[in-house]
Amino acid sequence: MNETRLIACPECDLLQSRPPRSRRGATKCGRCGATLSQRASATRDLTLALSLAATVLFVVANCFPIVGVWVNGALVETTLVNAALSLYADGMWPIAGLVFVTTFLMPALNMAAMIYLLLPLYFGRSPPGPQLVLRLLRHFAPWGMIEVFMLALLVAIVKLQHVATVMPGIGLWALGAVMVLLAIVAVIFDPLDLWAHIDRARPEAWPEGRPEARPEVHLDVAWIATASERFRTAARAGLYRCNGCGLLARPLLQSQAGSCPRCNSSLHPRKHNSLTRTWAFILAATVLYIPSLLLPIMVTGTLFNAQSDTILSGVVYLWSSGSWLLAAIVFMASIVVPMLKVLSLTYLACSTQLRSPSVPTRRTRLYRLIELIGRWSMLDIYVITILVAVVQFDSVATIDAGPGAIAFGGVVVLTMFATLSFDPRLIWDAVETEVE
Ligand SMILES: [Zn+2]
Ligand SMILES: [Zn+2]
Repeated sequence: MNETRLIACPECDLLQSRPPRSRRGATKCGRCGATLSQRASATRDLTLALSLAATVLFVVANCFPIVGVWVNGALVETTLVNAALSLYADGMWPIAGLVFVTTFLMPALNMAAMIYLLLPLYFGRSPPGPQLVLRLLRHFAPWGMIEVFMLALLVAIVKLQHVATVMPGIGLWALGAVMVLLAIVAVIFDPLDLWAHIDRARPEAWPEGRPEARPEVHLDVAWIATASERFRTAARAGLYRCNGCGLLARPLLQSQAGSCPRCNSSLHPRKHNSLTRTWAFILAATVLYIPSLLLPIMVTGTLFNAQSDTILSGVVYLWSSGSWLLAAIVFMASIVVPMLKVLSLTYLACSTQLRSPSVPTRRTRLYRLIELIGRWSMLDIYVITILVAVVQFDSVATIDAGPGAIAFGGVVVLTMFATLSFDPRLIWDAVETEVE
């Protein structure tokens, strides 16, 4: 049985002992401040209860309209999925797909995975194949963006109020509740605790004691446990931290690390080709950023004329109609955040490429900030989605998405991929060389 008491920080690679399971509250890395683990196992039942409640409310949110608009005695309503479908009907399938994945598919998969893992544990049984589900869960989390969609609903409602009577639907309130519940689940759910539980429940899954089962990866628990006395970082100790589950393993051959004995992710000392991939995504995002600002993201057609809106003219419209706060929010989310993100990522990639040892803590914090705020750029995409869905009065006015929206959606997705590809431990590798 492997109850490794040693963990490596996912953001700076520092070796440190795993906090005892009885300990409450978040544990932070002693060097870079990254969150190492959330809370103790006592919250597992609470996580399950909140996930179940969120699922029920998510079903309600999808069965009832989120928003409706009265114009000339006719009510046009839309549900979450219908909003994506109306974009698809307009031929804007890349945006429709993006909206469907980030507001429906990923949150749904996230909740399903939580319940799949936690419900059997509640009844004292182990879920089958938890390794794969836990690994997938890590990939779902960054792409669920219900909170951004809620803010977009608010912006859309303010915009629509100038032209029609807007009715928030039952779906909107339910979705708001789902947002709150999922935010709490994200804070209290501790994958490390679940991995430890899986280890205890299924000792036979371990190759330890049967080294012939995995000859390429050596799990010398006693050796690993004392590694922190001799080495500062996992890389120094020749240990690989699995990107999928956080397990520390010691490959016998550094050139052939193989895969993690616990979750089967392939083992790499750092994220695979981290800098190359980050650069590629930054470049692609920069190229798309220009058309996303210049091309119309929205085309409003009335009986008499058609008007194209770019991101900037949308902000100006909000500002001149008196919604200063929302104008500022949309300006921040759609123009400032993507630009800052591209610039910050370029700075991080450049300084890391040049192996600069300066201000590693601040650079790691910058990375964390980009990870946190990047998703909010989706705001404008969601606002357009909602407007396209409800402003379809053939006799009076229609709103369609413009080509700028596809470019802008591309920028958001590419910068998110760039952030996910970057490995902050590379920042600290330069510091380690300096210490030598
Ligand atoms: Zn750290
Ligand atoms: Zn693993």
